[in-house]
Amino acid sequence: VSDSSRTFDVAVVGGGVIGLAVAWRTAQRGLSVVVLERGELGAGTSHVAAGMLAPIAEAVPTEQPLLRLGLASVGMYPAFVAELAEAAGRDPGYLECGTLMIARDRDEAEALERQLAIRQELGLPVARLRASEARALEPALAPGLRLALEIPGDHVIDPRLLVPALGEALSRTGGEVRTGTEVASVIVDGDHVRGVALASDGAEIDAGQVVIAAGVWSGAIDGVPDGARVPLHPVKGQIMRLHDPAGPGLLTRVLRMQGGYVAPRGDGRYVLGATMEERGFDTTVTAGAVFELLRDAIELLPGLGELVIDELSAGLRPATPDNAPAIGPTAVGGLHWAAGHYRGGILLAPITASIVVAGLVGEPLPEPAAAADPGRFAGVTVDV
Ligand SMILES: Cc1cc2nc3c(=O)[nH]c(=O)nc-3n(C[C@H](O)[C@H](O)[C@H](O)COP(=O)(O)OP(=O)(O)OC[C@H]3O[C@@H](n4cnc5c(N)ncnc54)[C@H](O)[C@@H]3O)c2cc1C
Repeated sequence: VSDSSRTFDVAVVGGGVIGLAVAWRTAQRGLSVVVLERGELGAGTSHVAAGMLAPIAEAVPTEQPLLRLGLASVGMYPAFVAELAEAAGRDPGYLECGTLMIARDRDEAEALERQLAIRQELGLPVARLRASEARALEPALAPGLRLALEIPGDHVIDPRLLVPALGEALSRTGGEVRTGTEVASVIVDGDHVRGVALASDGAEIDAGQVVIAAGVWSGAIDGVPDGARVPLHPVKGQIMRLHDPAGPGLLTRVLRMQGGYVAPRGDGRYVLGATMEERGFDTTVTAGAVFELLRDAIELLPGLGELVIDELSAGLRPATPDNAPAIGPTAVGGLHWAAGHYRGGILLAPITASIVVAGLVGEPLPEPAAAADPGRFAGVTVDV
């Protein structure tokens, strides 16, 4: 059964940061677009994320294509959030604060020197700071720290402000959002997609193009032909949200240390994260993880012990076999991927939207898209 209320140029499956960014940019190009979200907007992994925009702190020399994607996206952020704030009429929570990477002892300092050398070889902007220089920037740091790297270009955004801003911008641009709407399968006719089928009643939504943006759950959507599938698995992260009853000021930059990070929101709220665990789709919060996160952070930032705990949560990073996402068109006409963003979906939202929209309207894909070609997984499977 199909009627005009069920017919769109583009259907986006999943209303997290990625699906919403893609849909907003799609609507701006004059295509009719619907976001189909089984729960509430942003209630998946995007709800849990810290929101660090940290391609340089997270650079891994063996993952340079991913680094290029991250650098491209972080460079897009200032204009992206400015345009979004204007389009949505609300603050997306972007904080240009910079990042410090910290070493507490000799071993960590040696490791940090290696991290510095890697970044210098790659030509990335990083400064080496003595302990006293780091404490001059962030006076709440413990006296015992050994060494720090300052990364002035790695910032942070609050995903819980970014998501509603994207949703509002999408609606104001003429896009449609349907929450409480689970997609069971994509419908492929011959070698071209023609829509999706809903889980509740099997009703079909006609769409000339479909974007799969269902995060770590994308693999559960039926009907994707073998040559267009992407292997995904969850990597669990436990994270804590806190606030300072005394207001902002304890910490102004993101702190990254071995085993975790503390990110300020700029208003006295902080996030402390995060574990990396292979535990399937489990999202329980464990005492041991909370203990370890607090122990490491309080050693470095003693004032953290005075903060009030607001929330403990766990989320599932959508990981692929090579840690890079799957973004763009597939071998099936009209079927596009925007998933597998692992640790960087908030960071990669702007570049993901640009790549997907270029694919949807048939323009050449921007340069870093090659690293994210979904076609590289044809024939690859993983056990979850
Ligand atoms: C602890 C933690 C910390 C993190 N910190 C950072 C960080 O600092 N910086 C960063 O860039 N990234 C971070 N990440 C990673 C980031 O959260 C993810 O990469 C990003 O949120 C992925 O966004 P998404 O839109 O693809 O997925 P999601 O936010 O999970 O959205 C997918 C949506 O699809 C919906 N859905 C699923 N199946 C269906 C279906 N069949 N039909 C309809 N809807 C469906 C879900 O309900 C969900 O809302 C962190 C992750 C964790 C767990």
